[in-house]
Amino acid sequence: MNDKSKYGRVLRFVSHYWLMFPVLFATLVVTRVASTLIDVAVPLASGAVVDAVIASSPDQPQAAYRALAWFIGLGAAFALARQLVAFLVNRMSARAMVAIGRDAFAKVQRFSADWHANAFAGSTVRKITRGMTAYDSFTDTVAFGLLPAFVVVVGVSATFWWRWPLLGLIVAVAIVIFLVVTVALSVLYVRPANVASREWDSKMSGVLADSITGNQAVKSFAAEGREDRLFLDVARNWEWRAIRSWDRSAISGIVQSVMLVGLQIAMLGTGLALWSAGQASPGDLTSLIATQFLINGYLRDIGQHVRTIQRTVNDMDDVLEFRDAQLQIADGPEAKDIDIANGRIEFDRVTFRYSGASKAIYEDFSLVIPAGQRVGLVGHSGAGKSTFVKLIQRLYNLDGGRILIDGQDVANVTQKSLRRAIGLVPQDPVLFHRSLAQNIAYARTDSTQEEIEEAARLAHVDLFVQGLNKGYETLVGERGVKLSGGERQRVAIARAILAATPILVLDEATSSLDSVSELYIRQAIDRLSKGRTTIVVAHRLSTIRRLDRILVFDKGRIVEDGRHDELMGKSGGVYRHLLETQMSAGEIEAAAE
Ligand code: ADP
Repeated sequence: MNDKSKYGRVLRFVSHYWLMFPVLFATLVVTRVASTLIDVAVPLASGAVVDAVIASSPDQPQAAYRALAWFIGLGAAFALARQLVAFLVNRMSARAMVAIGRDAFAKVQRFSADWHANAFAGSTVRKITRGMTAYDSFTDTVAFGLLPAFVVVVGVSATFWWRWPLLGLIVAVAIVIFLVVTVALSVLYVRPANVASREWDSKMSGVLADSITGNQAVKSFAAEGREDRLFLDVARNWEWRAIRSWDRSAISGIVQSVMLVGLQIAMLGTGLALWSAGQASPGDLTSLIATQFLINGYLRDIGQHVRTIQRTVNDMDDVLEFRDAQLQIADGPEAKDIDIANGRIEFDRVTFRYSGASKAIYEDFSLVIPAGQRVGLVGHSGAGKSTFVKLIQRLYNLDGGRILIDGQDVANVTQKSLRRAIGLVPQDPVLFHRSLAQNIAYARTDSTQEEIEEAARLAHVDLFVQGLNKGYETLVGERGVKLSGGERQRVAIARAILAATPILVLDEATSSLDSVSELYIRQAIDRLSKGRTTIVVAHRLSTIRRLDRILVFDKGRIVEDGRHDELMGKSGGVYRHLLETQMSAGEIEAAAE
């Protein structure tokens, strides 16, 4: 995207959030413009004091005091108005940041599973928070930097133009030259160095984060020294770029100072000439000197402001990408909630290919799972078992065919109702860093404590809760790290028990569980799956003997379909071969009985 349309897009985005609070925004602009105009009038009032003193005599000083009162009054009014602006900006910015965060979060949450699989969680989080703070800096820079500078330049030039057209012209031209040179320096000279330095700054953080999170590996290879050197290498690269960037800022500051001195000479020289021609009073000269300070104050940081605007425009880019992105999987305009009475699942000539994959996983694939049947999916890793389940949940759109549940196409119902009808016990359940009770109740937040404990009992969660110091109120750690894999899966089963969905999907843990955990999980699953259409993705094959039907997958096709004993009876069959490679001879004999 070119820079112009990028700036236009950001401006539309920012103004959308400004105008979300129209009264606040209008008050802010009016107050800011008024406060700056008062500031422009202060130097004029200082000149009036001098003129009044010269015109008055010591025994009749009233006019001088009046002028002084004006001078002080204007100064105080300016200070007050400025603070009012700060209060207004505080409110508007915090509210708008909440709105930006809320909108971006809402959108990102609804992006497809595919999108999330391809994005780094940490970097998505950073993009959202960076967008929020960038909006804040952008608004501050406009409210406290650019808008007042503009008002001062116009106000001062207009005032002078009105009194002494020549001086007005000189000041306007000098300021335009100053602005053009400053902006050019900032954009073409300082910013590239800044960008390079910041890039290495991120690399430095990256190295730190990578090494510190990988500390276990660093320790086990006694590689601390190596990591020290790696960091130092990157830090040195940052060092000279940082110096260059800071130096360029300083050089740019010197050029600006020289230009400001030039402006001073032009203004005050013209002022003196006007005075000697009898067109300006000593008070006018005082006003000129004071105005000179005023202009310096407002223009000194203009280069910095321009760079801030450039940086924040870039920082808002990602949030804008989120905002403008189409949802990859969206509900149709006519989508209704799904209505499941029995839970019959049908794949009708389904074709599906992952984006980026060269070949379709499923091609013209048809299958019926009758209501209430308990089906096990087996096959080598990569055979398409998890994909099968994801398609039922409509985490992806099909390239052809339909998936029907009780006759309703999953593509035509709301995603919310569909996913609420499918209970999922994943391979590696994700728990939130919240209490155990909250984690269990995640499926149904209105569950009572009794219901939660009953579900926990059925899923054998109660057995390890006794060992936790705060029982059901114990926080489980980020992603549930404080629980073992088997315990996490039991929590997930308790969730599914509470959800009481007509369809159940169980993705067995691939890593081996201790035999007690495994027994508990098996019992809980048996109980849970009774009377529900159940799909078990079986990685370990030891749990599926009691299921009604086993589907053996190979490269997206079903190569065997039957009960355990039927498939075991086929000598040279794929299922039998899979079992043989996984189990010892004794286990096979037991399984064949
Ligand atoms: P299984 O569950 O049987 O191990 P999967 O259904 O997970 O198999 O995967 C089937 C095939 O699809 C594999 O070759 C896998 O590499 C590929 N695959 C899985 N997920 C994705 C994805 N998000 N993007 C692209 N390819 C994928």
